[in-house]
Amino acid sequence: MDAATMTTPAVLILLGPPGAGKGTQARMLEEKFGLVQLSTGDLLRAAVAAGTPAGKQAKAVMEAGDLVSDEIVIAILRDRLAEPDCAKGVILDGFPRTTVQAQALDTLLTESGQRINAAVSLEVEDAEMVTRISGRYTCGGCGEGYHDTFKQPVQAGKCDKCGGTEMKRRADDNAETVASRLEAYHAQTAPLIAYYEGHGVLQRIDAMGGIDEIAQGLATIVKGAMD
Ligand code: AMP
Repeated sequence: MDAATMTTPAVLILLGPPGAGKGTQARMLEEKFGLVQLSTGDLLRAAVAAGTPAGKQAKAVMEAGDLVSDEIVIAILRDRLAEPDCAKGVILDGFPRTTVQAQALDTLLTESGQRINAAVSLEVEDAEMVTRISGRYTCGGCGEGYHDTFKQPVQAGKCDKCGGTEMKRRADDNAETVASRLEAYHAQTAPLIAYYEGHGVLQRIDAMGGIDEIAQGLATIVKGAMD
C-alpha cells in the first residue's frame, strides 16, 4: 500500500456520565467495526488487581468515586495505545475525562499522525444513572455486560457469550459512590463536550433509549466519521 492509499487508524471517543452505556456501546462497536475498545476504567481495575504501583495509588481514589490523577491515567493510556492491536483503530471509553487528558491525547495523536474521527456525547439524565448503575454486572470470564432489568442472560447466571458462570459487580457501583462519580463528571468531564465542539468533531446522541436503539444511532455516526 503506498502512502496515498494508506489510512490512519480511526480514533473514536465516547463521552458521557457513568452509566450512560459507554462500555456496552463500545463493545458493540468493537465487534461491528473491528476496532479496539480502550477503557481506562478497565485498565485501572486491572492495575489495582495486579497490585502495580499505579494500581496501589488508584485504588482508594476509585473507591471514593473520584478521578485518578491525570499523570497515572495518561501513562496507562499511552502504553496501551502503543500496543500493536491498536493499529486497527480505537474506541476510547472513559478517556479523556479532564481537559489535561484531552490535550495530552491531542499531542499523542499528533505525534503518530492520527486524528480524532468523532467524539460522541451520550446524553442522559442524572436520575436515570443510578438505576442503570445499581443493576449492572459483568461476566468474569469475557467481560460481557448485563443488567438486572435491561439485559439479563438467556439462562440466569450463565453468560450468553462465553458460558461463564462467574458474574461480577463493581465495588464502586453503589449509590454513595455513584453520586461522587456524577459530581466528578459534571465538574471535570462535561466541559469536554464544548472542547470537542470547538474542534469540530462533536456528535451528540440521545442515550435515554434502549441499548439496540442507541447502538443503531451510534453505528450511523461512526460509519459517517470513518468514511
Ligand atoms: P469507569 O470504568 O470508566 O466508570 O471508571 C471507573 C473509575 O476509574 C472512575 O470512577 C475513576 O476513579 C477511574 N477512571 C477511569 N478512567 C479515568 C480517567 N480517564 N481519568 C481519571 N480517572 C479515571
